[in-house]
Amino acid sequence: MSIENLSSEICLLKSVLVANRGEIASRIFRTCRKMGIKSIAVFSEADRSAPFVGEADMAVFIGESQPSASYLDQDKIIQVAKQLGADAIHPGYGFLSENAGFAKRCAEEGMIFIGPNPKAIEAMGSKAEAKAIMEAHGVPVVPGYQGEDQSREKLLAAAKEVGFPLLLKATAGGGGKGMRIVQEPEDLEAAIEAAKREARNAFGDDRLIIEKYIESGRHLEFQIFGDQYGNAIHVLERECSIQRRYQKVIEESPSPVMSAELRQQMGAAAVNAARALQYDNAGTVEFIYDDQSGDFYFLEVNTRLQVEHPVTEEITGLDLVQMQFESAMGKALSLQQAAVMGRGYAIEARLYAEDASNNFLPVTGKIHRFAWPEVEGLRVETAVQSGSEISIFYDPMIAKLIVWDEDRAAAHRKLTYVLRSLQCLGVKTNQDFLLKLLQHPDFLVGKYNTHFIAEKMNLEALTGVEDQAQDVGAIAATLIQWKEREGRRTLLSGLPSGWRNSFYESQKVSYVVGEKEIQLRYRKQASNFEFEVETHSYQVQLVEMADGHIRLEVNGVQYRVYWVKEGAQFFLQQESLGSLVLEELDRFPTQESEAESGGYVAPMPSQVVKILVESGQQVIAGQDLIVLSSMKMENTLTATEDGVVAEIYAEEGGNVPAGFLLLQLNND
Ligand code: ADP
Ligand code: ADP
Ligand code: MG
Repeated sequence: MSIENLSSEICLLKSVLVANRGEIASRIFRTCRKMGIKSIAVFSEADRSAPFVGEADMAVFIGESQPSASYLDQDKIIQVAKQLGADAIHPGYGFLSENAGFAKRCAEEGMIFIGPNPKAIEAMGSKAEAKAIMEAHGVPVVPGYQGEDQSREKLLAAAKEVGFPLLLKATAGGGGKGMRIVQEPEDLEAAIEAAKREARNAFGDDRLIIEKYIESGRHLEFQIFGDQYGNAIHVLERECSIQRRYQKVIEESPSPVMSAELRQQMGAAAVNAARALQYDNAGTVEFIYDDQSGDFYFLEVNTRLQVEHPVTEEITGLDLVQMQFESAMGKALSLQQAAVMGRGYAIEARLYAEDASNNFLPVTGKIHRFAWPEVEGLRVETAVQSGSEISIFYDPMIAKLIVWDEDRAAAHRKLTYVLRSLQCLGVKTNQDFLLKLLQHPDFLVGKYNTHFIAEKMNLEALTGVEDQAQDVGAIAATLIQWKEREGRRTLLSGLPSGWRNSFYESQKVSYVVGEKEIQLRYRKQASNFEFEVETHSYQVQLVEMADGHIRLEVNGVQYRVYWVKEGAQFFLQQESLGSLVLEELDRFPTQESEAESGGYVAPMPSQVVKILVESGQQVIAGQDLIVLSSMKMENTLTATEDGVVAEIYAEEGGNVPAGFLLLQLNND
């Protein structure tokens, strides 16, 4: 078909429903507005007051907070879309975005699914099939086994052939779930068993593939784009090797290891992959690049818009969502490969509500203040605003911070500045972790692989707070309280405060910072304060106190500290000191009595997915007891010793807070 004849084929999108939430819904609505397309949001109970809901032209409630009752409920979404006459549905990423059945269903119901054809989605949904197709089209794949025969004997034999170390992956896997490295032959059998169980729990499918483990690999991926007429291009690479739990934290483009020649080779392989699938719309071909040998291998195709797509947009000036709309409308790709050009450098950092010092466990809570500095070349994609709640139901990503500049050093400098000035107060985040990561000398020069976080970052050191930061933070918290007391006194009585009468008497206050307790003594002089913090003394002036920030001068240096106070807790943020959480000690809740031995508690707020044992049952050490799910992460509690299940306090499907006693084992 020639381009001239196409115009009659092109349908016009007048309205689009976004079957997703958070930052990606906001992102898609932005392009809708730009193109004059009416936008429709659907939302769950937990998202009723979320910013994205307010940004759409229309918003419809679709159900409870659990994804299965809302964002994954195909019937409801289709019903709303039809009722409102939506021409198309954009699935975003996650949720229904890689569900071929849903894509088909949209078409059957007369609506456009904004994504590739269902056949491509289906084929790429299986890691085994994906590899087979790619191999057949000359795209290099990681050596391994991806056969039908899943018998124990076959898997063991195949693994021996692949050699060690190797990686077991769930054929139906995704999101980093269900992967296991096996270093030694003697661990193989147990690992296969465990991987199968994990895969069955997470995906309802226990098939595995086996891959050679690339020990020093970098994750390089290519943005691809195709149309319905067989045209396919790539829109350059992104490097996403900075990962924890096989999930991306920092992405950049161009990749520090990319040469023109390598880009040419990998780009050609990516376009080959796209052609093999007759790929239309946006997608990503992921590769693992062996930085010892220089070889690269296909990993998978993500048949959707990627979380990190802004990196590509920043260096190319393209609007990938607009291109998705146009492709879905039946427009031919107008961009030629030769015209694809990157300019400058872009880096994205994902800000997560998580505890980097505790195995990156997600945390929940309320973000009391979220604000960022205005910087040219900074793009913030976020799901939250001050007052937003990070709930247990969804991904703990708070925001994506994307910077652009002429070269890597400048972009790097800018991102560092942004992360120093950003205020995200009220929950623990990875903000300081990201800053430390950016400052690592190896990251600075782009020398890293996928093990960078695990091997090069000293995660233990993250719990420690530098003395100076801690002291200034504690002084700030004390002054905030002092000022509040002062205000109350003047307001209530108009009398000089009793405090001023005891002019020379020093006051005492203690805080807990991280795991440390610190004590302060202070007294007010005529116009300043004298503080003693452990062995240090400070001359302090309270320069300015405003809602949400305090300016204080400590030994001649001024600090503007942003703060939020919640009960006895102070959340503080200061540019050169980082973020700090302090808890005033006399109000510190008494520690709950040590859990009785044999008690299994929820490590974080979770939903109880499955209870695998019964009351009275005999269990052995290592046996799985209960499967929890929190913010996309599945977590199986296993018995630490042999015993008998005495009592089960959890209920399948129920939600439990952190520290909830789930079950009790007796070991007599
Ligand atoms: P990206 O490169 O875009 O980050 P990921 O594979 O990490 O790709 O996943 C992107 C999104 O897709 C995540 O936000 C996650 O919610 C979702 N996702 C992918 N696979 C799964 C899965 N198996 N289960 C739940 N969510 C998934
Ligand atoms: P998912 O569908 O969960 O995203 P991928 O196959 O894309 O699974 O792998 C996720 C991550 O795991 C990659 O980004 C890479 O860091 C690592 N990885 C995957 N396969 C290999 C391999 N064969 N060798 C080394 N690392 C790998
Ligand atoms: Mg992947």
